[in-house]
Amino acid sequence: MAVGGAAAGAAAIWSFATSGPSWTTLAGVAALLVASLVAEAFPVPIEGVAVGATSLANVFIVGTAVVYGWAPAVLVALVTITAVETARRRPPVRVAFNMGLYALAGSAAGFTAESSEGPELGSLALGAFSASAAFWLVDVVLLAAVVARTSEERFLPYAWRYVFWTAIPFAIMASLAVLLVVLWDRSPLIAMVLIAPMVAIALYQRSVQGSLDRLREVDRLKDEFVAVASHELRTPLASVYGAAITLKKHDLDPKTRDAMLDVIFHESDRLARIVNDVLWASRLESGSLRTTVESVDAASLAEEVVVDARPRLPTSCSLELISPPGLPPAAADPEKLRRVLVNLVDNAVKYSPDGGRIDIELAASDGQVRFAVRDQGLGIPESEQERIFDKFHRLDPYLQRGVSGTGLGLYICRELVHQMNGRIWVESSAGEGSTFSFELPVAS
Ligand code: ADP
Repeated sequence: MAVGGAAAGAAAIWSFATSGPSWTTLAGVAALLVASLVAEAFPVPIEGVAVGATSLANVFIVGTAVVYGWAPAVLVALVTITAVETARRRPPVRVAFNMGLYALAGSAAGFTAESSEGPELGSLALGAFSASAAFWLVDVVLLAAVVARTSEERFLPYAWRYVFWTAIPFAIMASLAVLLVVLWDRSPLIAMVLIAPMVAIALYQRSVQGSLDRLREVDRLKDEFVAVASHELRTPLASVYGAAITLKKHDLDPKTRDAMLDVIFHESDRLARIVNDVLWASRLESGSLRTTVESVDAASLAEEVVVDARPRLPTSCSLELISPPGLPPAAADPEKLRRVLVNLVDNAVKYSPDGGRIDIELAASDGQVRFAVRDQGLGIPESEQERIFDKFHRLDPYLQRGVSGTGLGLYICRELVHQMNGRIWVESSAGEGSTFSFELPVAS
């Protein structure tokens, strides 16, 4: 296709150069080329069309074909696609492919337009319409042929699908091309007036499509949210239910009774934590969380977190607070600071299935109070360290030895730390434990 395109391009340059174009022709082609470049650079997304955004450049290429003939149309098509694709840093193979596609489609539009020449309104309109149809058909058929060949599928189903998807954009494009050509015939300057409504439609359509895409993303997140939360709630609920049924039997020995009560205690604690995460995440989402920053004694708040966490620690884990004397107070919202520390300590315990030492270390430097939660657990591969702070992002279950969770805890931590004007990060390597740190400004 690239060879066909190159041949069409070379023939077009030769034909256009030897035809001795007048200054008005050159100016007209240049104006259409600029319009085509702008249209290609800012494609218009059309709702319900599955082949991405649609470029209105075709309208100007077809316009050039009807008004000035096939050779300038091929040149406008080639310059447009080469400039825009190169500026987008597309791979050379793709640029060559698209150049071929546009050059051949432009030639088809030009030859079709030339065969229905005539000065009357009707034949101008018919020329513009049939040139649009020729451009569209060549474009769609070549694209379908290449895609079918690379995916080793049959050509006809692809071609039909592409025709079906692009029929609406084609109808819009063809009517715009007819309008452009008829107006251009009356006065090129008047035709330029078309540009304003076209730009307005393109901008409006892009903003509507942007809003729709955002709404779909919110909807997708909501579905994921419901799926994750209900899946995570089911397991502890089943354990509590099972333990309660066992306790109902009267002939239990004290050891089994204690074990069942232990299950109920731990699993209902886990349930409460999941519900807590969901509540915090939804408060963050709705923007209803207020931050009241005050001067907080970081050491005593961290001490409270440690004291609360100790009774729930597995026997294989230990938890220590390391705090230097004279630590300055942090500028923080105490409830949010506590939530961040609780989440990080919970994770340190959860992701240390073989136990180990967990430290919370506090320090002050450069006007910041630093909190570090260090564990000797599973660790996190470097490639995942950015993404674990994203909503719902969890490591491969194999990497975390089947430990369950919602993927919300670190997202909540990151958002809360940001709301308190701080930053949070992790240092870790797989199999060697992790250190989650965050900094908050010293209270003035
Ligand atoms: P989850 O509910 O899955 O624990 P989080 O947002 O708290 O959700 O954590 C996201 C992911 O980051 C976890 O699924 C886990 O893979 C990883 N992770 C978080 N904390 C630790 C840690 N201390 N050690 C190892 N991996 C961790």
